[in-house]
Amino acid sequence: AEVTMDKIVSLCKRRGFIFQSSEIYGGLNGAYDYGPLGVQLKNNIRDFWWKEMTQIHDDIVGLDASILMHPRVWEASGHVSNFSDPMVDCKQCKSRFRADQIDLKGACPTCGTKDSFTEPRNFNLMFATHIGANADASSTIYLRPETAQGIYVDFKNVVSSSRVKIPFGIAQVGKSFRNEITTKNFIFRSCEFEQMEMQWFCKPGTDEKWFSYWREQRMAFYHKMGIKPQSLRWHQHGPDELAFYAKDAYDIQFLFPMGWQELEGVHSRTDYDLTQHQTFSGKEMTYLDPESNERYIPYVVETSAGLTRNVLMALGDAYDEEELEGGDVRTVLHFHPSLAPVTVAVLPLVKKDGIAEFASKLEHELRDDFSTFYDVSGAIGRRYRRMDEIGTPYCVTVDYQSLEDQTVTLRLRDSMEQVRVAITDLVATIKKATKE
Ligand code: ATP
Repeated sequence: AEVTMDKIVSLCKRRGFIFQSSEIYGGLNGAYDYGPLGVQLKNNIRDFWWKEMTQIHDDIVGLDASILMHPRVWEASGHVSNFSDPMVDCKQCKSRFRADQIDLKGACPTCGTKDSFTEPRNFNLMFATHIGANADASSTIYLRPETAQGIYVDFKNVVSSSRVKIPFGIAQVGKSFRNEITTKNFIFRSCEFEQMEMQWFCKPGTDEKWFSYWREQRMAFYHKMGIKPQSLRWHQHGPDELAFYAKDAYDIQFLFPMGWQELEGVHSRTDYDLTQHQTFSGKEMTYLDPESNERYIPYVVETSAGLTRNVLMALGDAYDEEELEGGDVRTVLHFHPSLAPVTVAVLPLVKKDGIAEFASKLEHELRDDFSTFYDVSGAIGRRYRRMDEIGTPYCVTVDYQSLEDQTVTLRLRDSMEQVRVAITDLVATIKKATKE
């Protein structure tokens, strides 16, 4: 069956992955709350990325810069003058659109009125707010629209305080804010979202080599995360899409329910950002190469992924409705075990005769190694279905035989296969299956 956005949205709400923000007040456009399962899924994706970037790769260190920054940062970066989208309003119904996303000669998508649009005007996407008690212009600051600038601004601090040598990277995960004109498609484009960005600093002249290296690495990452390779592709920015400072840029696109859309950008940004910050701050942004004694402003290759957009990808890629023998349909999320909000569910076949107590004790023992869930209520088939629907890869069922011989049934989500496993082997068996 086709995976539609409506099905994903409905499952997210039903099972507690994602809710509309401020729902009891009618909701706030472009803002979402991650429920008990959603926050776990998002954290797991974040941890998967963080581990890959900072633990598995050499020479990448972490950073957590603040969301609020000196307003000059955004003048230097070009965001104050350039970070805008062309916007039009419908004169009839006052709906607002991005001029590049609709036919300006056609009818208004909301009210159908023809020839009703205002002239396009530039709309800056940064959220402005005030710091301190005086709400005058001197205290205007912005919520960051990307995490990258925090990395550039701290470049010298990282170099002088850690032992990194070029080439090296700085990785960061955090919230970003954009006052997006259109926020449809669920969490795909929201006003508050999270990014996972890494800036790789290298010697000028080596940037093309690193640019192709990072493209390869980033695609391999999604394959490792278990995303279907046929749902991922590259899109190279044409001359009209390329940011004015960028040397080259490729997007990794994913086949979302509404079509192919950007998931992550890999950008060759040259020395643009560091040079701008040197000019605007008056502080040197150069690097002294300890081997050659050369001094230069490094070139930057950036990998910039949306974390919340990755959540939507993970849900869309995992979602399936499978027809079972007998005509039943099961809804299942085939998450990679490392991403699943619950890794192991422990289910006593019946409550009586000490089986529930035995199962509950086992569930407690598994907590050190896995994210677990204990469920006693309902027929066992229904409990399996509930776990399928939230993407739990392993169910452990405790029955009468367990009390006698210390074995349990391990049921695998994807194949629905059931195997008998000794409790002493359970942790190792699940860990092995997770790595496969
Ligand atoms: P677009 O042109 O679609 O607005 P962009 O090219 O400006 O996006 P980047 O600035 O390159 O996007 O941001 C890097 C990544 O951050 C994107 O690939 C996306 O995953 C994520 N991202 C950007 N804007 C949003 C948003 N409004 N909501 C959710 N994720 C976003």
